[in-house]
Amino acid sequence: MRMAASGHATQHRFERLVLMATVVQKFGGSSVATAEKIKRAARRAIAARDRGNQVVVVVSARGDTTDELIELAKEITDRPSAREMDQLLATGEQISIALMAMAIHAEGAGAISFTGHQVGMITDSVHTKARIKSVDCERIKKEFAKGNIVIVAGFQGVDANANVTTLGRGGSDTTAVALAAALKLCGSENVVCEIYTDVDGVYTADPRKVPEARKLTEISYEEMLELASLGAGVMHSRSIEFGKKYDIAIHVRSSFSEAEGTLITKEVKSMEGIVVRGAAMTRDLAKVTLRSVPDRPGAAAEIFHQIASANIVVDDIIQNISREGQTDLSFTVALADIEDVIDVANGLTKELGAGAVEIDKNISKVSIVGVGMRSHTGVAQKMFKALADAKINIQMITTSEIKISCIISRDHAEQALRAVHAAFELEKE
Ligand code: ADP
Ligand code: ASP
Ligand code: MG
Repeated sequence: MRMAASGHATQHRFERLVLMATVVQKFGGSSVATAEKIKRAARRAIAARDRGNQVVVVVSARGDTTDELIELAKEITDRPSAREMDQLLATGEQISIALMAMAIHAEGAGAISFTGHQVGMITDSVHTKARIKSVDCERIKKEFAKGNIVIVAGFQGVDANANVTTLGRGGSDTTAVALAAALKLCGSENVVCEIYTDVDGVYTADPRKVPEARKLTEISYEEMLELASLGAGVMHSRSIEFGKKYDIAIHVRSSFSEAEGTLITKEVKSMEGIVVRGAAMTRDLAKVTLRSVPDRPGAAAEIFHQIASANIVVDDIIQNISREGQTDLSFTVALADIEDVIDVANGLTKELGAGAVEIDKNISKVSIVGVGMRSHTGVAQKMFKALADAKINIQMITTSEIKISCIISRDHAEQALRAVHAAFELEKE
């Protein structure tokens, strides 16, 4: 099923009558870190199947496996080939699927595990940050028909030439929601996606950084998408794009309790009453400033064309007012991409006849998000005052309809997040 198309259900009416609800359960790294935790997750999947559902389980690599694999690569070389990095990283999830299948078998239930390749998870070829293009639901449906729980490796796929790809850190969420969407497009009814993690839902800010943060009972796709893109690591942002596009209800909840979590869902009118839903912080950014760029049509287009061609995602961009035919241009990128950006930027300044390239690797971003911002005023001013009162200097500001972001020094990142959270009293209902 092509994920980009707005496809129709291919199911026959007759088949629909016998279909049950379909549940995709995703267990993150900490939820499968030990044998005991894998067994607990297995029992949850079996319980869902016993309630009459068709169940897909998506698993991440256990515990810190992905970090350990990255460290292993670093011991060999500073700049490993992205293709081989994917080949390496995908092994983490392959361990988890096999163990999960064994755990379900040990409980006496039927299950089969699949890698991304085996389940037809086709992506583009952008190694380490690939995007899903299509998913094949036939193999899953055949296993459902046999009564099996289907276990799928998160975070991985293959490109058109069967090269293993990965979806970017935290990408197992996207595997889960994409599978839910694919099954819906293939005719499954009442598809829900449950994200089991080490927190009991989505909070007003990362509870590890802001202890007073409060759990939300619901949040709109738009708000969650912004928060995830702005550093709320609880959900992979691409997963929310799929959820929104294919209208998949996503329930984020704890794998260690039965408590209700947070429902990520369509925006309803009542949500506008809340001005700021949450705050987030992106810790590891870098700022690049190109001095004295010739102020002529096409200069910015050329700069960002070359950066995009190197598969680098630019975060925020600011161009200053020009003086004497020249302008300064600043943008931020993920700290992990900075070495690649420096290569491109140095080449560019020569080509364009621009001045110096300045790099600041000590950059973070703090943001507030809420659909209520559309209809309320004074929100930006309140955020700037919160940072000013905390004596934090704002280096760049960017806004959209439902978010405000400030670029600051990383030295104040956590402090800024807490200051903003307190200023908007997000801990209060
Ligand atoms: P998993 O391995 O299950 O995918 P992650 O570590 O990716 O888990 O995501 C869960 C973590 O996300 C939490 O432990 C929490 O520290 C962090 N987090 C960041 N922002 C938020 C937020 N707004 N709400 C809840 N958790 C958040
Ligand atoms: N194992 C991968 C990571 O650690 C994917 C995931 O956990 O979602 O980023
Ligand atoms: Mg995650």
